[in-house]
Amino acid sequence: MPKEEKHHRPCDFPDCKKAGEYRAPKDRSLKSFYWFCLEHVQEYNKSWDYYAGMSPEEIEAHIRFDEVGRRPTWRVNDLYNHRLWDPLGILGKAHHRATRHTKEQQAAMRLLGLSDNFTTGDLKKAYKTLAKKYHPDKTGGDKALEEKFKNLTKAYQLLLKSLH
Ligand SMILES: [Zn+2]
Repeated sequence: MPKEEKHHRPCDFPDCKKAGEYRAPKDRSLKSFYWFCLEHVQEYNKSWDYYAGMSPEEIEAHIRFDEVGRRPTWRVNDLYNHRLWDPLGILGKAHHRATRHTKEQQAAMRLLGLSDNFTTGDLKKAYKTLAKKYHPDKTGGDKALEEKFKNLTKAYQLLLKSLH
């Protein structure tokens, strides 16, 4: 297939196996580029356009909105986990940090029944539901359940910290 021989570069989108045939700027300096397949360059351009007129502070503010669910299409952990990417290169630190969960964080996620891509909203909802169920007021002084409640709270606090 001659068309594919021409393009040795794979698409830069995480886990995409297609050829990277289309160039897209990594940042506003336009000095470095990603190479994407058609589908991903289109997606990239959409996010680029979306952020293009904004200062880094404004972009961050928008991402925070996602965290509290004001724009449900963009979830902050999608960005963190490279599902989406970072057109202006400002989220690099954040997603690097959150891509890998520590053993402690993984245990906390299991306790709260959260998947890898949980958002702040998911976390709060999970904690609220479980904390209600295991709150000492409800469990009539059962020591084991009281312990469970403490562990849930610790898990919640740990994960909340990992998101900030
Ligand atoms: Zn692709």
